[in-house]
Amino acid sequence: MKSIDQASLSGKKVLVRVDYNVPQDENLQVTSTTRIKRTLETVNKITNDGGITILMSHLGRPKGERNDTFSLKHIVSSVSETLKKPVIFLGDVLDADIEEKINNLNPGDIGLLENLRFHKEEEKGDIEFAKAIAKLGDIYVNDAFGTAHREHASTATIARLFPEKAYAGYLLYGEVQSLKKVLEEKKSPFTAIIGGSKVSTKINILKNLLEKVDNLIIGGGMRYTFLYTMGFTYGDSLFEEEMVSVAKEILEQAKIKGINIYLSVDSLCADKFAEDANTLYTKDQNIPDGWMGMDIGEKSIELFKKVILESKTILWNGPVGVFEMDKFAGGTKAVAEAIAESTKNGAYSLIGGGDSIAALGKFGLSKEVSYISTGGGAMLEYLEGIELPGIKALEEN
Ligand code: AMP
Repeated sequence: MKSIDQASLSGKKVLVRVDYNVPQDENLQVTSTTRIKRTLETVNKITNDGGITILMSHLGRPKGERNDTFSLKHIVSSVSETLKKPVIFLGDVLDADIEEKINNLNPGDIGLLENLRFHKEEEKGDIEFAKAIAKLGDIYVNDAFGTAHREHASTATIARLFPEKAYAGYLLYGEVQSLKKVLEEKKSPFTAIIGGSKVSTKINILKNLLEKVDNLIIGGGMRYTFLYTMGFTYGDSLFEEEMVSVAKEILEQAKIKGINIYLSVDSLCADKFAEDANTLYTKDQNIPDGWMGMDIGEKSIELFKKVILESKTILWNGPVGVFEMDKFAGGTKAVAEAIAESTKNGAYSLIGGGDSIAALGKFGLSKEVSYISTGGGAMLEYLEGIELPGIKALEEN
C-alpha cells in the first residue's frame, strides 16, 4: 500500500475519500469535528504540495436518494474552520457542470463534493458510478479508514481505476500500520484486554486473537458467561446462555495453544444498575443472587496490572467495568493507567472502540498510549481477521 508521501501532487486534481460522517444537532450544526481534524494532515500535504483537493464523503443514511437533511453543504463551514482554509462546495458528482466547477479550481484550493450516498450505486460498489467520480481527478487518495470495510464505489471500486495512482492518506495509513504492528509485527509478550458488555459481539475477535496473543484478559460484563463455564455463579450479572458453549470452546482452545487467559478473581457488585446502588465486594469469582458484577475487584486489578506491565505489545478494546458510573470505574481506570505506564516503559499500545477511547479521555490518558484507533467497525473487522476491501484495493494497486 502506497502512502500519500509517495505521490506527486503538484498541479494534480486529487480525489480524497474522507469519512466526514460527523454528528450534527437538530439545526444540522456539527457537534464534533474529530473526524474532520483527523484528515488535516492529508489535506495540508496536498495543498502545500500545490495539489487541488477534492474531498468526498458520505453522511448519514440517505438511502440512495437526494435528501437536503444529509447534504454536505451543511458541514462546509465546519470543515473550513477545522481545516483553517476556505472550502468550496462543489455540488453533486453527477451534476452537469461538475467538471467545469472542478476545472475552475486552482492549486491549493479545496472543494467538497455532495454526499456520495445520494446515489444507491455508491453502496453497491457500482463500477459506472466509480468511473463517473474517477474522471473528476488525476489521483485517488483514501483517508476514510472508518469505511474501509465496505466495498463501495468511492472506497474499493474506484481505487482499481487508478492503477499506480491510488494512495493511502495519513489517517488510513497510520491506522493500518498500527494494526499491523500489533497483529503481525508484534513483540512478545502480547496482551489483549477485551471487555464490554457482550460475548456475542466479540466472539470473532476473541477467536482471531487466540492465533496471535500470549495473554488474553477478559473483562466487562462478558466475563460472567466465561466464569459460569468454570462453575462459578453469576447472580444478576450480564449473562448470555447461548454463548456458554462458545465461551467453553474459547477457554479450551486457549489451553491447547498455551495462551494465558485472565478473568477477574473478585468483583465489585451492585444491587441495581445505577450510580446510587448499594455495593458488595466479592472476595472470589462467585456473584451472590440479587447482585450484579459491575467492576473488577482489587485482587483482579493487581493481577491484570502485573500482566500489562510485563507486556511489550498491548491491545485494548472494551472497558472492564461500567466505567461510566464513577463507583464502578476503578477497574477500567487501573487498566488504562497500567497501559499508560507500560507504554512509558517501551510497550506498543493500541486502543480501539468508542468506550475504551472515552475511558482514556475520562482519565486524562489519551496522550499516554501509542495509538488510538477511531476506525470503529473497520477496526473490529480487521481484528477479526477479515480482509478490508478498501485496504485490499489499495494494496493490490
Ligand atoms: P460494548 O459496547 O459491548 O463494547 O460494551 C461497552 C459497555 O459495557 C460499556 O458501556 C460498559 O458500561 C459496559 N460494561 C462493562 N462492564 C460491565 C458489567 N460488568 N456489566 C454490565 N455492563 C458492563
